[in-house]
Amino acid sequence: MDKYIESVYESIKEKDPLQKVFHQAALEVLETLEPVIKKYPQYKENKILERIVEPERIVQFRVPWKDRNDEIQINRGYRIQYNSAIGPYKGGFRFHPTVKLGLLKFLGFEQTFKNSLTTLPMGGGKGGSDFDPKGKTDGEVENFCHSFMAEMYRHIGQFTDVPAGDIGVGAREIGYMYAAYRKITNLHGTCVLTGKGWGWGGSLIRPEATGYGATYFAEEMLKTKKESLKGKKVAISGSGNVAQYAAQKCMQLGAKVISFSDSSGSVYIPDGLTQKQWENVMELKNVKRGRIKEFADEYKLDYTAKGRPWGYGAQIALPCATQNELDGKNAKELIDGGVVVVSEGANMPTTPEGVTAFQKAGVLFAPGKAANAGGVSTSGLEMSQNSGRMFWSREEVDSKLHGIMVNIHQNAYETAKLFGEPGNYVMGANIAGFLKVANAMVAMGYLA
Ligand code: NAP
Repeated sequence: MDKYIESVYESIKEKDPLQKVFHQAALEVLETLEPVIKKYPQYKENKILERIVEPERIVQFRVPWKDRNDEIQINRGYRIQYNSAIGPYKGGFRFHPTVKLGLLKFLGFEQTFKNSLTTLPMGGGKGGSDFDPKGKTDGEVENFCHSFMAEMYRHIGQFTDVPAGDIGVGAREIGYMYAAYRKITNLHGTCVLTGKGWGWGGSLIRPEATGYGATYFAEEMLKTKKESLKGKKVAISGSGNVAQYAAQKCMQLGAKVISFSDSSGSVYIPDGLTQKQWENVMELKNVKRGRIKEFADEYKLDYTAKGRPWGYGAQIALPCATQNELDGKNAKELIDGGVVVVSEGANMPTTPEGVTAFQKAGVLFAPGKAANAGGVSTSGLEMSQNSGRMFWSREEVDSKLHGIMVNIHQNAYETAKLFGEPGNYVMGANIAGFLKVANAMVAMGYLA
């Protein structure tokens, strides 16, 4: 690695030695920027790398709330306002027991480049809490969301920071948080959260957008090989928001979805998911809030406790659950099974060993910051609709989303070619995302 880039990476580790997953995300970006730093000396002169790895602001706070037994519980809330060079901070809230500062720094850092790729004016941010909605009553989730927003409301706003959902934060949580925001501020209609419901400011297609977008990206990658999704077997991990709509779009495009998973295990669907089965998964996960094993049991499908769905012989892999869920061994299983395209629906689901294995084997691999950018892009479209006091039809939003994904693919593909590594979507996406933010920072001087 270039000495300058290495020194930036070493300084990150030295400052926050325990934030391993952030180190991983930073290294993955920094090491691909070498040719850019060589070609354009202004980035080193202006210390862009040193600045871009450091969040502009971090807010951390206490979230006290009352559980069903009237007992006080205390969680931690965070917002990381990473980079606002090209627009207001934008990025989701994650509610999961694993949420810590390092995890959110990884996600906020990634978000900065992802948002830049969307072509929309959005900076990078991320937030959340170590609160676990799993096993909680609706009332408990509501109490928690109100208390969380009682502090968060003062840090966000349509021209400052516009959060959305992520793991553990879906339509229910956004609704409770938006209610609290309205009560406190007496404001409605300024776009302060995206992922709102239809009829109270939400955009059609926002729930579908990340999964649809990752599938559109896979389709674009296949086109470079003059192939399509039609008839291909697709392994999907997760069974939450991203996985559900990736599965729906794959089915619509004629592919065969052969798996789902959750943190307890994975299910193999040898004949391909049917429409009826998809509806059952939607009901199970979004209404009953059950486990994927219940789906496997109902249809007498193979279920592997603690298993991951990468050994079922798929041509397409869409990891849509969580970070580091596809390692070097899993990559080998997929390669041996004939995988052609991997499109990351989740954020950084593939470990560095996994990425290297795919690239060495000539598998087309798209990193999350490009492939799952459809979600935040459609959040950007929700912001536009709110500002214009109007709503677009499903077809209109879906066609804009599709156009954005085609654009991101083209940008990543062409940039990789320009910098001498055709087909390297990791490098292409990192460089293309970086350039826009870096140029804005240079233009605005050292304060940006
Ligand atoms: P979600 O609706 O909460 O679903 C998450 C899914 O991942 C669930 O099936 C969950 O299973 C599973 N999962 C979580 N931790 C796991 C683990 N350690 N091992 C195996 N499975 C695990 O969340 P989501 O919105 O679909 O987000 C999924 C991924 O996409 C995340 O990486 C998120 O950052 C990324 N993403 C989401 C969006 C969006 O618009 N929602 C946009 C861009 C990127 P359990 O139910 O057992 O926990």
